[in-house]
Amino acid sequence: MSEQVVIDSLAFAQGGQAMQGEIPLAKLARVRESLLQSDGVAHYALRGGTNQMGKPALWLDVSADLVLTCQRCLEPMVLPVRSAGVEFVLVDKEPESDSGELEEDSEGDVEWLVANRAQDVLTLVEDEILLSLPYAPRHENCAPKAEMAETGAKNPFAALAALKKPQ
Ligand SMILES: [Zn+2]
Repeated sequence: MSEQVVIDSLAFAQGGQAMQGEIPLAKLARVRESLLQSDGVAHYALRGGTNQMGKPALWLDVSADLVLTCQRCLEPMVLPVRSAGVEFVLVDKEPESDSGELEEDSEGDVEWLVANRAQDVLTLVEDEILLSLPYAPRHENCAPKAEMAETGAKNPFAALAALKKPQ
């Protein structure tokens, strides 16, 4: 486990730095357990700067092709993950969760991130991929299969239960 990418997040943002790289999916333990095949890599790019509200922020792009099991036909399926420009606003400390709604930015994908001198970049990448994972991935259109019509029609949940999913 030599894969570690660590930045000083505030300095990274204030310095307007940028980086990119790739990480084998097999190294992302929490992602790997959802995958049918863990070969392949996730590409990521991170840049720092100041957001529209004048706050230091990081923007993350992640792209990966995940091979999952379709929960309908139980055949492999490829899920392309393409996250672009996910914004992390750096804050001094976690906003109080009970101090009212966090103003979720209307533009969507904005997250709070406590500034950290040793921010693990790969954790951000992994979290982003996990967020993209559907609870029950399915082909948009499953390839027609003879035996599928049979098992599928009878009880799709039996097939699901057979796929034991820890957690
Ligand atoms: Zn399918």
